[in-house]
Amino acid sequence: MSKTIAINAGSSSLKWQLYEMPAETVIAKGLVERIGLNDSIFTVKYGEGQKYEVVTDIPDHEIAVKMLLDQLIELNILASYDEITGVGHRVVHGGEYFDKSVIIDDDVIAKIEEVAVFAPLHNPAHLMGIRAFKHLLPDIISVAVFDTAFHASMPREAYLYSLPLAYYNDYKVRKYGAHGTSHRYVSQRAADMLEQPIEDLKIITCHLGNGGSITAVKEGKSVDTSMGFTPLAGITMGTRSGDIDAAVLPYLMKKLDIDIDEMLNILNKKSGLLGLTNGLSSDMRDLQDNKDKEDVKVALDIFYDRIRKYIGSYVAAMDGADAIVFTAGIGENSAVVRSEIVKGLSWFGVELDETENAKFGEHIISTKDSKIKVLLIPTDEELMIARDVEALRPSFK
Ligand code: AMP
Repeated sequence: MSKTIAINAGSSSLKWQLYEMPAETVIAKGLVERIGLNDSIFTVKYGEGQKYEVVTDIPDHEIAVKMLLDQLIELNILASYDEITGVGHRVVHGGEYFDKSVIIDDDVIAKIEEVAVFAPLHNPAHLMGIRAFKHLLPDIISVAVFDTAFHASMPREAYLYSLPLAYYNDYKVRKYGAHGTSHRYVSQRAADMLEQPIEDLKIITCHLGNGGSITAVKEGKSVDTSMGFTPLAGITMGTRSGDIDAAVLPYLMKKLDIDIDEMLNILNKKSGLLGLTNGLSSDMRDLQDNKDKEDVKVALDIFYDRIRKYIGSYVAAMDGADAIVFTAGIGENSAVVRSEIVKGLSWFGVELDETENAKFGEHIISTKDSKIKVLLIPTDEELMIARDVEALRPSFK
């Protein structure tokens, strides 16, 4: 048995989950917020609903990690540091270097640093987490799990933009995708639930949260995904525009007299459902509560429409589909959203069982006769991270 910790380090936060492996039991989890600022918030949840919380100044990630390890001992969750036998780190961008999770060494760190140009807010923060754990627990296996890795299997026709090829060759401008760990987890679960080998299946996974992406998974491999060079592309999201004609940018920049940074800020933070509802909300719960308002109705129609079109295009890309999976905040919790999306797919022979659709948790929500099965699968990226650590342990020297 081993205790493995899954880490998601942000620039001022550290989210963690401690597992007993291979049992896959969550022993404790928590969050450190406001690292580097005053009044950092340190929370641990453990046991049966127990919670430890303290507000104190935590100047950097290494101090946050030390505090976390010491507190796990203080709370009798660990007897000593030695009990932790592995750590897995979520890394947003692996560029073209990584098509799977890897054991972290100096070369891996250098590559994560190199591709930080594609994820300037995320990769440097992950490196702070990686270095802090390496320093405090130097002898245990440390693994990087990349959001982009699952999409490394996309064929050229899916990942290349129709731009002069030199921009790909010289600058690596291409589609990388995101949410890969979630798409990988739910597609594997879908195959388990359908009791069929994943190699025989064509699955469309819909990760619908504040950010959202749709992926075409053929024979267990991502063959296309809606997010692009960055997570701005694809479907309409909470605050992100998703796909738009690039020519809109210079036109609006002139009209509004703004520079490209401000334009990108609008596309990332003020668009999507928030922008379409004139700033009412980016949160699906708020919008469902206000769905009689005309702006909200239109925003929701656009949201459903874009998702349906991606699903339709992925049926075409894979020449068929056996299953559609809904996951993440909206996909897992909103029966209305699932129902509205599927309503427009009747031509494909997709049919929801509304009694099943109204229920929560992992299960099949389509009718017995539905040509394409529809599944609700709560995602679990942290578990995937812990599993990848265990899978790589035999190669760790
Ligand atoms: P995530 O980014 O995966 O945490 O998902 C956040 C999104 O899930 C937000 O838009 C929430 O409004 C949405 N969400 C969470 N719970 C519900 C719910 N019960 N009904 C509709 N949307 C929900």
